[in-house]
Amino acid sequence: MTIFNKVLEIYKNYSICTYCLGRMFSLLGTSTTNLERGKSLLLSLTMESHGIYLSRANKQDAAIKELIILAEKANFLPAQQVLKNEGFEYSTINSDQSCFLCNDIFSNLQKYAEKAKQLVEGIEFNNVLIGASPDSQIINREDNFKAKFNLLEAESFKSHFNREVGKIFSTFLNKPAEFSNPDLLVIYSLGFDSFKVNITTRSIFIYGRYNKLIRGIPQTHWTCKNCFGKGCESCNFTGKKYPISVEELISPEFVKETKASNTKFHGAGREDIDVLMLGNGRPFILEIRNPVIRNINLEKIKKQVNEINVGKIYINDLKFSSKKEVINIKAKAEQTRKVYKALTEAINDLNLDEFTEKLILLKNKLENKILNQRTPFRVAHRRADKIRKKMVFKIDGKYIKPNLYEFIIETQGGTYIKELINGDNGRTPQSFAEIFGPLNCKELDVIKIYNE
Ligand SMILES: [Zn+2]
Ligand SMILES: [Zn+2]
Repeated sequence: MTIFNKVLEIYKNYSICTYCLGRMFSLLGTSTTNLERGKSLLLSLTMESHGIYLSRANKQDAAIKELIILAEKANFLPAQQVLKNEGFEYSTINSDQSCFLCNDIFSNLQKYAEKAKQLVEGIEFNNVLIGASPDSQIINREDNFKAKFNLLEAESFKSHFNREVGKIFSTFLNKPAEFSNPDLLVIYSLGFDSFKVNITTRSIFIYGRYNKLIRGIPQTHWTCKNCFGKGCESCNFTGKKYPISVEELISPEFVKETKASNTKFHGAGREDIDVLMLGNGRPFILEIRNPVIRNINLEKIKKQVNEINVGKIYINDLKFSSKKEVINIKAKAEQTRKVYKALTEAINDLNLDEFTEKLILLKNKLENKILNQRTPFRVAHRRADKIRKKMVFKIDGKYIKPNLYEFIIETQGGTYIKELINGDNGRTPQSFAEIFGPLNCKELDVIKIYNE
């Protein structure tokens, strides 16, 4: 069956718009549009039939029949004009029949782009991606149609819609299409008679480093285990186990400036709730979801966050980042070298000489050695019970009182320092307690996190 025969077969049975006609043969001929394809097919058919009518008396009837189909079912003006000139009647009753495949959606795409334009007013974006999800009625009808006429070169409803609405939308707002990582995503839910538009914006990722200057606050908010965040008596109806967190001190200013819906905090590891984060700070990435404003002044926000949280937290080194970097900083955190300051209390009193002697023993035993550390008892309920191999690089110690010492400990990231000190009942076999006798970490601070 030639393309022309297929077209006539289609119009004998259905009315479809010129866009959809061209779309059914979209893989044929490049550097053109579906509308042009459709028009060309209709015009070629009209010319062919007109030619036959003029030159071959025995086929005139068939030629006129074809012209009438084109005039009535495709509402094609050149065919209508030929019939009129040759003195033939045709009916235009069918001419306002809507397209069987798209219900004239494709002749009214302006309306769809216009709606999205209204919805994105005030939203900052540099590029856009249009998506569509046609309902099952549209898809099933189209599938059956293609099967019936053996149309193997068609473009899908969705892809025609996305491209053509995208073109109009981009012209309206002068923003290019971006397929891999668009700032703005416009998704249409399409039915034959109605549609909905859903607008989302790409998250903004901000890298920074934070200091935690007070003890007792977690890095991110902990949902109350008792009520799962709904609010109950034990959490004072906050839904949270701790009233505030580093995340909750940092993020509000970012939400305010970007008019975002919410944020997610990604830390490069985390310190315990009672541990300070000093020195150059811990890297983090704040994911700002559904921002309305993208062009934000990081210096200004940094100043605001730091002013509001004086003495609690401090942020620094802010820069724009990416989703990829989130995975990166999390992966690196397990390896990055860290320096801790630990204030420890002993059961057995030592004099300075005894302390110095034991410190030398400790250094010989642990420095530049691999530690085999089993998951601490205190976290075993939420982390896999396994042996971690961690490098201890350097230990220094300072004698304060017979039972009070300060240690500076440099280790590979992910080492459990409190357990390195107290031995965790043998779960960390090479420990400070082995040499000093029962020893407890009273206060712990992270004082440096290396960059690599
Ligand atoms: Zn159509
Ligand atoms: Zn609760």
